[in-house]
Amino acid sequence: MTDMADDCKAQIDANYQSVSNVTLCTVLSGENGAHVATVEHLIAAFRGLNIDNAVIEVDSHEIPIMDGSARPFVEALLEAGIKELPAQRRFIKVLRPVRVSEGGGFCEFTPHDGFHFDVEIDFDSPVIGRQRYQMELTPERFCAEVAAARTFGFIKDVEHLWASGRALGASFKNTIALDDDRVLNPEGLRFKDEFVRHKLLDAIGDVALAGAPIIGAFRSYRGGHRLNYLAVKALLEDSSAWTIIEAPRIREIRYADFARSLEAAHMGAPRN
Ligand SMILES: [Zn+2]
Repeated sequence: MTDMADDCKAQIDANYQSVSNVTLCTVLSGENGAHVATVEHLIAAFRGLNIDNAVIEVDSHEIPIMDGSARPFVEALLEAGIKELPAQRRFIKVLRPVRVSEGGGFCEFTPHDGFHFDVEIDFDSPVIGRQRYQMELTPERFCAEVAAARTFGFIKDVEHLWASGRALGASFKNTIALDDDRVLNPEGLRFKDEFVRHKLLDAIGDVALAGAPIIGAFRSYRGGHRLNYLAVKALLEDSSAWTIIEAPRIREIRYADFARSLEAAHMGAPRN
């Protein structure tokens, strides 16, 4: 974090071990009490574009919400350009299923030769209802299908948050506002199923906090930031459930020698 008194400057790893709160958004904390909230859409933009080595400078305790999606971050990153480094990329490969459940929802990782996401939501609201979205994560599909999906909230909850001094910046410019049975934003939805796509966006950001792209299948049913975080934590804290493998490029990972990697020693929870 920059633009703060020197003794407040801090470097915070974008890693699940830095997660300090997952109630409304994902909050990362570091030394000296430094913290930064609402990291998920920005981290999702990096993960969606396959960028895994970057320093993000922030001069506030919250990442700007922008339009409530990851699209402005993706546009800015693409405009800045992406540089390929000579170092080998590291990946976390899921070796066996890990599942967490809570409050009628669950999140799980299972072995899979790719980067599969499967997110399902089930809201007791006719405007959302039950929606499911599955994809093999690639930059092309992330940009086309996920990045623009905006965050959403029910007006009754927003009023409750406002009363407690939170979500003060929420508006039609950065949130899909819902009444019980309709979308209140005059421009309507960007996708018919924008809600589940946004939950997928959140999951991509939260799962990226594993510290490296996960080779495996992620599935969530009625999940959210908390379950996403708990699933990443449960996976990485069980050293028999994953291993680290390396490959020069993400597109070459499918051709990596998995069998040899399985025999390689665990290298501990990755940090980057
Ligand atoms: Zn979100």
